[in-house]
Amino acid sequence: MRSLTCDVLVIGSGPAGLAAAYEAKKHGAEDVLLLERNDELGGILQQCIHTGFGVREFGEDLSGPEYAWRWIARARSADLRVLSETMVLGVDHSRRVVASSRALGLVEILPRALVLAMGCRERPRGALAIPGSRPAGVFTAGTAQRLVNIEGYMPGERYVILGSGDIGMIMARRLTLEGAQVVAVCEILPYISGLRRNLVQCIRDFDIPLHLCTTVTEVRGRDRVESVIVSRVDEQWRPIAGTRQEIPCDTLLLSVGLVPENELTRMAGATIDPATGGPVVDEGHGTDVPGIFAAGNVVHVYDLVDDVSAAARIAGRSAGRYVRQGAPEAGQRIRLRAGENVRAVVPQILGLAALEEGPVVLQFRARHPVEGPVRAELVMGEGAGARVLLSRRHRYVRPAEMVTMSLPPALAAELAAAGDSARDLAVRIIE
Ligand SMILES: Cc1cc2nc3c(=O)[nH]c(=O)nc-3n(C[C@H](O)[C@H](O)[C@H](O)COP(=O)(O)OP(=O)(O)OC[C@H]3O[C@@H](n4cnc5c(N)ncnc54)[C@H](O)[C@@H]3O)c2cc1C
Repeated sequence: MRSLTCDVLVIGSGPAGLAAAYEAKKHGAEDVLLLERNDELGGILQQCIHTGFGVREFGEDLSGPEYAWRWIARARSADLRVLSETMVLGVDHSRRVVASSRALGLVEILPRALVLAMGCRERPRGALAIPGSRPAGVFTAGTAQRLVNIEGYMPGERYVILGSGDIGMIMARRLTLEGAQVVAVCEILPYISGLRRNLVQCIRDFDIPLHLCTTVTEVRGRDRVESVIVSRVDEQWRPIAGTRQEIPCDTLLLSVGLVPENELTRMAGATIDPATGGPVVDEGHGTDVPGIFAAGNVVHVYDLVDDVSAAARIAGRSAGRYVRQGAPEAGQRIRLRAGENVRAVVPQILGLAALEEGPVVLQFRARHPVEGPVRAELVMGEGAGARVLLSRRHRYVRPAEMVTMSLPPALAAELAAAGDSARDLAVRIIE
């Protein structure tokens, strides 16, 4: 087996991998190698041909491929080494990577620092356990997106979409524009699970029927889907008797969530946060395995690609710095956890030495929507007696929209003075 070395190895060339590789190079890593299993770079963005990308990063409303091309051009200008058609098969805690490459065959790579940027995958139907037969015509929304936008095939003519995630809503519009009929989007929750802008631009503007508190309870058809049965559900998501309705269709699309792609992360021995499905990371996006960093949807699923690039820059910078200087002085470490009405917080670990150097941005999601003024708070201690360290007002919170809170460097001194009682802080959202 051939053996390679490099300063920083990045696995995955989506927006996260590209930004991390570029930034690692800019911050002191001389030899940066980017691995991608596909034949082209850019990750999932290449199939997202609608606009809405890059407003923050480039000040322009770009399509997914345009956004990817901008980053690919940056990466090329930075003189990175790129190996496409190279699938990483294994990683261990000493950062030894084994990959299968079209150009090099089976190859071992020994980097001084490693950035994991493998993205996420869609939750499939198997994970949903919908009763009924298993006819053709059931796709995830992302598979349909690829078939329509890249392969040039229409998966069907008359669609029901289960789940109101962003990819499902975007596909509802795309399929309508291609002449198909989208007869229903069914969402089990009492609110949509994607962004409000997609509800307006993809569902309402095209008069596509949206049914909240509704799910698919049966798929009918022998060889091909012929219809689905949908039912309204109660608060525990149990179908309500007497609400069954048969909807004739030939295709069912599933848009029921994304899961961080972390088999390699587990192999490397990094601790996984069950709330995000990604590795536990510190403010520099370092995992708890020395020299291994994580970027983008591997860490937690983002709603905007601009935020993916911003977070990946942090990971790339940290990897470059690790190569130059080794692990930074950690100083006091604080555990950040999800409190009231918060599903998960990233980063989960905060080093006070890093906070002294500059602001650290926390990212988190609400468990439940609140459509009135709320406060997001960083607190020490529990319940009503908790000491509020920071409090920020928001007009509303929705699970689909990430909430951020910037921690100022001045907070580091206050936390250091609090000593042991500040080792465990919570983020909460209260009305
Ligand atoms: C189907 C789908 C559609 C989406 N559509 C939209 C959208 O329309 N708008 C939007 O804002 N966001 C969309 N997203 C969210 C999107 O994932 C993020 O905005 C962004 O692309 C995440 O960047 P990333 O670099 O973390 O991951 P990705 O873009 O997914 O890139 C990960 C890369 O890692 C590579 N990789 C994975 N495993 C390996 C391995 N073992 N070896 C080598 N390479 C590997 C993959 O091939 C891929 O190129 C979509 C996500 C999915 C899954």
